[in-house]
Amino acid sequence: MTHSEELYARALRVAPGGVHSPVRAFRSVGGTPLFMSGGAGARLRDVDGREYLDFCMAFGPLILGHGNEAVRSAVTEALGRGWSLGTAEPYSLELGEFICSRIPWVQNLRFVNSGTEAVMSALRVARAATGRSKILKFEGCYHGHADAMLLRAGSGLADAPLPDSAGLGAEAVRETLVAPLDDEPALEALFAAHGREIAAAIIEPLPANYGLLPQRPAFLATLARLARQHGALLILDEVISGFRVGFQGYAPLVGIEPDLVTYGKIIGGGFPVGAYGGRRELMQLVAPVGPVYQAGTLSANPVAMCAGLATLQQLADGTLYAQLEARAARLERALRALPALSVQRVGSIFWLCLGGSAGSVVRTPKQYPAGCVQRYTAMYHPLLARGIYLAPSAFEVGFLSAAHDDADIDLLCAALAATAQ
Ligand code: PMP
Repeated sequence: MTHSEELYARALRVAPGGVHSPVRAFRSVGGTPLFMSGGAGARLRDVDGREYLDFCMAFGPLILGHGNEAVRSAVTEALGRGWSLGTAEPYSLELGEFICSRIPWVQNLRFVNSGTEAVMSALRVARAATGRSKILKFEGCYHGHADAMLLRAGSGLADAPLPDSAGLGAEAVRETLVAPLDDEPALEALFAAHGREIAAAIIEPLPANYGLLPQRPAFLATLARLARQHGALLILDEVISGFRVGFQGYAPLVGIEPDLVTYGKIIGGGFPVGAYGGRRELMQLVAPVGPVYQAGTLSANPVAMCAGLATLQQLADGTLYAQLEARAARLERALRALPALSVQRVGSIFWLCLGGSAGSVVRTPKQYPAGCVQRYTAMYHPLLARGIYLAPSAFEVGFLSAAHDDADIDLLCAALAATAQ
């Protein structure tokens, strides 16, 4: 028995599935989850002492890799000053100013502890601002685990037996409208039928929780136009894409501006942080200025704020995005040469779309290639045996970090060439 297997047996007695977030349990790829003891650069180390090249990167936050030195020293300094103050403090101010001064549509923001909280709070603001109750979301998009967002969601729900979570309040089910991605006529029809009841439309502008499903800019523009016409707010969930596909996220790449935006992952540099922000008059609805209540004991935790700032400071001038793009393009080129694989990529986010046909882009869950999950599962453990760690689900995307070099990319490609079928 390996040490991972021993720990897993113990963990099963402590937590559902032995884990604290479902995908980590390896249900999707089978076998026993590996218990990792740490990470450095582009590598993870398991409790049995084996090393893996990591292409999951904690599901996105670690754009600089594990153990980035500047983040480490910012965190160490912050720890020396005290790790929870529960007061006004300068650290969230610095991070907030850093973001607001670089992203024009974020005039005001509020830090929370996760992407889930950011989304919940943004929806509350939208309902208060419009006096409406319905929320429009898209099939396959994941926005965290607030009730209203757990209908037709991706991520850990993508291959669950039911596409919606159990235990949702009746109101959540009644008040959430679900639209297909990539389908303007369906959107037009939904807005025609419900436009006056919709408080907000929320979308991952670059859906990355059901594989990577790049949307046509024209589709996103139609969504933005319909929302505006019908008096609904547009919330862009950039928890994954924010600070990842560019400092300002995906919105400027497709030429749309949100009313509200949600962030997580990179904004905390690997510590628990989320944020929601947007136009000042909307954000001024939030307590203590306005009537929308939202609070948090650990919100804007100074250690997390300093980690976030040290991360964003390394990204702001764009140099790292150019490097990541070059490296990711190299990966894409190499993978396209492998007949058994097709890959979808935007910046440093890639998705192995196994069984997809070259030349056609998968944009909706309905176009998910038949056999993709089975193929991913079949190659997952052989890849682990070769020291490659991918997210343990075919529905999750892969991430490159600034710590991956060309040799790491070549190792991944060689391992995939040997295992993909
Ligand atoms: N929105 C999106 C787009 C996400 O990908 C996620 C998490 N993967 C969330 C929201 C929820 O964030 P968290 O897990 O930090 O609650």
